[in-house]
Amino acid sequence: MEQILKYLILGIGWPVLILMSVLIVKRGYSFYSSLKGTVIGKLIIPTVFGWLFGMYSLGIVSTAYMICLPWYYTVIFAFLTFLIAINIVYKAMKGWEKEATELQAFYENLEVLVKKRTAELEKAHSLAIKHEKEIQKLKDQFVFIAAHELKTPVTAIKWALEITLEEGKDHINPELYSHLQQIQSSNERLITLVDDLLNVARIEAGTIKIVPADFDLDIIIKSTIEEMQSVFKTKNIAINYDPPGKVTVLADQQRIKQVLINLLSNATKYNKEKGKITVKLETLKNHAKVSITDTGIGIKKVDLKKLFQKFGRVESDETRDIEGTGLGLYLCKEIITKSKGEIKVESIFGKGSTFSFTVPLA
Ligand code: ADP
Repeated sequence: MEQILKYLILGIGWPVLILMSVLIVKRGYSFYSSLKGTVIGKLIIPTVFGWLFGMYSLGIVSTAYMICLPWYYTVIFAFLTFLIAINIVYKAMKGWEKEATELQAFYENLEVLVKKRTAELEKAHSLAIKHEKEIQKLKDQFVFIAAHELKTPVTAIKWALEITLEEGKDHINPELYSHLQQIQSSNERLITLVDDLLNVARIEAGTIKIVPADFDLDIIIKSTIEEMQSVFKTKNIAINYDPPGKVTVLADQQRIKQVLINLLSNATKYNKEKGKITVKLETLKNHAKVSITDTGIGIKKVDLKKLFQKFGRVESDETRDIEGTGLGLYLCKEIITKSKGEIKVESIFGKGSTFSFTVPLA
């Protein structure tokens, strides 16, 4: 019975061992092919061979024992397989050591190379930034000088035209008079553009001056609306302001007036014919808030974020024929931020917009 069991084990054991070896070799080979050249790929061969030798040594020693060969055969087999196994492990370990040393050297070199390249890139980057700053400075200086030089002649033209139109009202031929009026309105646009450029140049150079002082914002709003009546008339705009009475704020009066003019002329420019503008002044906890609501073309949500950027204009069918530089709101934002306030916009496309800003109370 024992004999039958032994032969049964041997008869099943060896085919199973051979089948497993074939499978392991096949798997190992496909692994090796896909990872060829990598460190893991190089480790696959000794691993598979190690496994095969281990299993076969076990098989051979067990077989020798089961078929009852004399004891020294078993010992010799065991000793031989032990030697072969040690040899394989030793060679594999030597290979791994070599790999590890090479890998270490490679990483060290790589580290040095990366450090060198990073230093080079940092140097090139700071040089590029320096050049860019210099170019930006030259550009700002150029814009400032050009705008400054333009300011004198356009102002001279403005006064000369005003006197000519005033004095010649009754004796200049009407056609010529209307041409002169056109020249006057173009000159006004040129003056606004020159002023905007000068202000932008000042902002860029950090020389824009905000001189805060106490003043009544209600009075400034009323006088600005009064002075801009001719602007509202160009589109027959109805302006509505319900004065709340004295609201004393601490800000630069001239600059705040500039913001009001900008927002009110936008509310007219981007309004419909016979549209409405509502101005509201209210006091919050520490600030006064001015809101200017129009019934104009409105602004799509996607366009809102570019409004306060330099040269930020909305490009659409509605705005195509409206002249502008995209500098007005950028200036307003700079002035209001420097005055420790906030400027915001809310809009419904096709219905109108509300631009509001806050300034600290005195
Ligand atoms: P500009 O009017 O000279 O183009 P602004 O900086 O004053 O420059 O305005 C930027 C853009 O914001 C305008 O081109 C216009 O598209 C949009 N915008 C400003 N105010 C209004 C408004 N009240 N209604 C609709 N769009 C406006």
